Amino acid sequence: MTIKVGVLGARGRMGSQTCSAIKGASDLELVASIDLGDSLDLLRTSSAQVVVDFTHPDAVMKNLEFAINNGIHVVVGTTGFDDAKLNQLKSLLAKNSHVGALVAPNFGLGAVLMMQFAAKAAKFFESAEIIELHHPEKADAPSGTASRTAELISKSRREAELPAMPDKTSSAVAGARGAKIGEVPVHSIRLRGLVAHQEVLFGDQGETLSIRHDSIDRSGFMPGVLLAIREVAKRPGLTFGLENYMEL
Ligand code: NAP
Repeated sequence: MTIKVGVLGARGRMGSQTCSAIKGASDLELVASIDLGDSLDLLRTSSAQVVVDFTHPDAVMKNLEFAINNGIHVVVGTTGFDDAKLNQLKSLLAKNSHVGALVAPNFGLGAVLMMQFAAKAAKFFESAEIIELHHPEKADAPSGTASRTAELISKSRREAELPAMPDKTSSAVAGARGAKIGEVPVHSIRLRGLVAHQEVLFGDQGETLSIRHDSIDRSGFMPGVLLAIREVAKRPGLTFGLENYMEL
């Protein structure tokens, strides 16, 4: 049986790739392609079972509210998900307990592995910093992937009871040391020509370790998006991070 899928942000960069990937999958059927100005009601009238949202951080919650209240499972790629938004999502799901929601800061399988490797490495190094690099049309900074990586590293450091990172900076221009997420400074680059890239830097006495991931084409996100579409209905409630679907 095919899964009926709707895409929100269907004319955008990620949304259009997602529509093509769904059309190319024999077990999925694209029943609604919705963009700004189109009615969300098409999700209901087309009997979409799963909706994928690649829109804008300011638009996503309204979209998810409509989908979840109509019993449609949601796969969320739109970034900018802070604790407030996650709590809002949990409340929506509590009222519709059979609905599954996956919020994935990054659908790149390599990027997910980078985050997992970084979380494992964190407890062995005194210092950790993140540089994330993206195309200049990106609306939010730092990226969802960088925030998530920083949170995972901070959690590993806390669990290992590591002391604060060494940093004797006593005067700095605002922003020069990046934005701190948990314990980790995150530096955001926005540069024409880039897609989505991240380097996680670890340092200790006499050695450093760099873990780098490069998305060179948005098609690289599609295996992860398709995996999420196929799995989300089997997992009611909120799942944060594609790693939970990857059996790592
Ligand atoms: P984009 O090219 O700007 O696409 C967004 C699309 O959504 C645009 O066509 C936009 O229309 C439309 N849109 C805006 N508000 C909408 C609404 N209320 N309902 C329906 N459609 C709406 O952006 P993108 O590069 O595809 O990125 C989209 C989101 O995905 C961003 O948050 C980005 O950070 C995130 N992202 C996530 C991943 C991941 O792996 N999780 C990977 C890449 C990107 P207009 O152009 O008319 O405003």
